[in-house]
Amino acid sequence: MIHRDKLESLRTDLKPYGATLVAVSKTKPHEDILEAHALGQRHFGENYVQELAAKQAALPGDINWHFIGHLQRNKVRVIAPVVSLVQSVDSLRLAREIHKQGQRCGRVIPCLLQVHIATEATKYGFSTGEAHDLAQGRELRDLDHIEIRGLMGMASFTDDRSALRGEFRALKTLFDGMAPAFAGTGGVNPFSILSMGMTGDYLIALEEGSTMVRVGSAIFGERR
Ligand SMILES: *Cc1c(COP(=O)(O)O)cnc(C)c1O
Repeated sequence: MIHRDKLESLRTDLKPYGATLVAVSKTKPHEDILEAHALGQRHFGENYVQELAAKQAALPGDINWHFIGHLQRNKVRVIAPVVSLVQSVDSLRLAREIHKQGQRCGRVIPCLLQVHIATEATKYGFSTGEAHDLAQGRELRDLDHIEIRGLMGMASFTDDRSALRGEFRALKTLFDGMAPAFAGTGGVNPFSILSMGMTGDYLIALEEGSTMVRVGSAIFGERR
């Protein structure tokens, strides 16, 4: 059973911002996804390669599957044919592997660069400076089987609202600074997704310019 009322209120909250809701269904059963799907939800986020692949194979074909966890290079092959957006590109080596697997299955795979904005130490994500430098360089542009659509970030695990706001604001500033380097042709800017905000902080993230929130427990309940 999912929290239908919460899904409704999330939609109401997102509407004025035109933001996309990614329902984070990691560890949750197919029935829960089908229940959200029946209510019109079409974007789902998963953290594990095998779980995404299994759910994609079993569930409706009009679902957009987002990969949001740390992606090991030797597993890219499994999701390359079916993933809608890899939100967690955290190294150039991973970007190269996604490009290679995109080439293998004849796709241009949409990706976000994951940027480390939280104060907690983690191995994953580019620093702000690294992301900025990447945007200026050639390496990513040469990978024509991936398309860098924007940035993803996770804020600190804290109740301090002004600290959260500061982290989201820093990511938005970086995003705006990087966008010109990724500008496409014909007025289309493919670099248009700023994925930030989860169950506890999505309202602040929206106020700070998020275009995509990733919400799990509010919709599906706590994970064990
Ligand atoms: C699990 C997860 C979420 C969702 O977290 P909730 O607090 O349950 O909303 C969002 N983003 C990422 C990267 C996650 O791993």
